[in-house]
Amino acid sequence: MKGILNFTQEQLVSQFNNLKFAKFRVQQVIDWIYSKGVTSFTQMTNFNGQTQGTLSNSYCIYRPQISAIKKSIDGTIKFLLKLDDSLTIESVFIPEDHRNTICLSTQVGCAVGCKFCNTGYNGFKRNLKPEEIIGQVFVIKDYVDSWKDRTKRISNVVFMGMGEPLYNWNNVNIAMQNLKLGGEIQGLSPKRITLSTSGIVSVLEKIIPTLECNLAISLHAPNSATRSSIMPINNLYNLENLLTICKAYNRLHPNKLITFEYILLNGINDNTGMAKQLIKILHGVKCKVNLIQFNSWKGDKFVGSDEQKIQNFRKILVSSGINATIRHSRGRDIMAACGQLQSSN
Ligand code: SAH
Ligand code: SF4
Repeated sequence: MKGILNFTQEQLVSQFNNLKFAKFRVQQVIDWIYSKGVTSFTQMTNFNGQTQGTLSNSYCIYRPQISAIKKSIDGTIKFLLKLDDSLTIESVFIPEDHRNTICLSTQVGCAVGCKFCNTGYNGFKRNLKPEEIIGQVFVIKDYVDSWKDRTKRISNVVFMGMGEPLYNWNNVNIAMQNLKLGGEIQGLSPKRITLSTSGIVSVLEKIIPTLECNLAISLHAPNSATRSSIMPINNLYNLENLLTICKAYNRLHPNKLITFEYILLNGINDNTGMAKQLIKILHGVKCKVNLIQFNSWKGDKFVGSDEQKIQNFRKILVSSGINATIRHSRGRDIMAACGQLQSSN
């Protein structure tokens, strides 16, 4: 049985051609799946029994299984989702006044191994398939009833859950292309999607000319020595090359800003000197800086900077003309905040 969510629209055309279906059937199936959220071919009432039967025998419309749900007092909902091979991932629904965001995983675990990250600490298992990425969106839509209730509409997606999206770019890209297919109400334009990466320069080089979604880079340090000490990936793709590719991105996408994520870690990257170095290296890069409070997890070796230090750091950046904001953590009480996702609880 093939997972129909794994196929792009173009691939579906050739699939349906092989099944001897008329071409217009592709759009009909897409409407049922991506705009109406049906989970079985028998719900497709404009198809006769024979067509429904052929489709049901050939394809499945994937949903991961909800294994546990935790609700935060701030409305954030964390889903522990079980995949067909029993591995688990986490996805988060974050409701706000004017938008509902979901945070998606792209891999089971992560091989990048950033020292401050709980996902990295637990190691890498495997890449997610397109249907497992799209399935996270759909299972959350089913749960919060956003297929029918427009106030629950999912307006934004961030690839900031488990995994490094650029180490699974092919599948992430297919998922992103397919998520557009829901049309005006259920579709997700890449403009509303933000991909966060630890800075895989070799992949960035290939994809930035055609990258449609927003780009966030996990920077976390203003010099190579500090960055390497908390992000081993910096030994592979160093800061200088990363900033060069960021400037190339600016040239290719002149109307967009890159978001730099910067976790403030007490005594490591949070003093005045570091803020000044950051200003210096970001000179000439069109960007904003998102200062992030460190979210603690069992076994971590860091202390987050206190509120005063975070405010000071921000003030220094802002006084030099950098747009810097502080990211308020959501769902901290249920371990759903950035870097706290792991698949065991
Ligand atoms: N792998 C990608 C996307 C997933 S991580 C990346 O690293 O960008 C999403 C964000 O959470 C990143 O900015 C990451 O650095 C941050 N993060 C990881 N661990 C964290 C922690 N313990 N506290 C706060 N933010 C954390
Ligand atoms: Fe992987 Fe991102 Fe965590 Fe680093 S911060 S270990 S890249 S998930």
